[in-house]
Amino acid sequence: MAAQTVFRARRRLGYGRGVSESRSDSFVPNTDELLLNNDQYVEQFADHELALLPRRHLAVVACMDSRMDIFALLGLAHGDAHIIRNAGGVVTDDVIRSLVLSQRLLGTREILLLHHTDCGLQKVVADELMEELEGETGVRPSWSIESFKDPFQDVRQSIRRLQVSPFIAYKEHIRGFVYHVEDGRLVEATL
Ligand code: ZN
Repeated sequence: MAAQTVFRARRRLGYGRGVSESRSDSFVPNTDELLLNNDQYVEQFADHELALLPRRHLAVVACMDSRMDIFALLGLAHGDAHIIRNAGGVVTDDVIRSLVLSQRLLGTREILLLHHTDCGLQKVVADELMEELEGETGVRPSWSIESFKDPFQDVRQSIRRLQVSPFIAYKEHIRGFVYHVEDGRLVEATL
């Protein structure tokens, strides 16, 4: 029942066409294969000496989109930065929580926000999805869907949320960018 409802919503929003549709139809769980991959990873593991504190004193807040390899697109190495991700790269209370720990306990002093073109949240009609969830479960979520139309505007919104948060101690080095999934380019969203 729930899966069918989700599938209907996805189709209405224009998701699930083409490749992703056929992939979801032929889904098999990945975990067993991933554990075999991890066996190989352990054999080649070379990061024994990394420190708990991120070397670059940097925290990155990014969308969870599967096309963004944060370490690769920024040229980061293991141990360089905290990577905090959610749907949209939105500055939610839980992102603030992570940033508070990142800054106060683990020494980060710079925040980089990464949103991107062709984000799934650009297609979501938040009110409809909220009504669907409430109708299906009887519970209206306390959280917001945080959908948006313009990724540049949304990055600016996230920067402002950080700037007005009393819990973010270090605000001098906050910058936001839109990653272009078409060519891998970052474009800054200036306030
Ligand atoms: Zn996204």
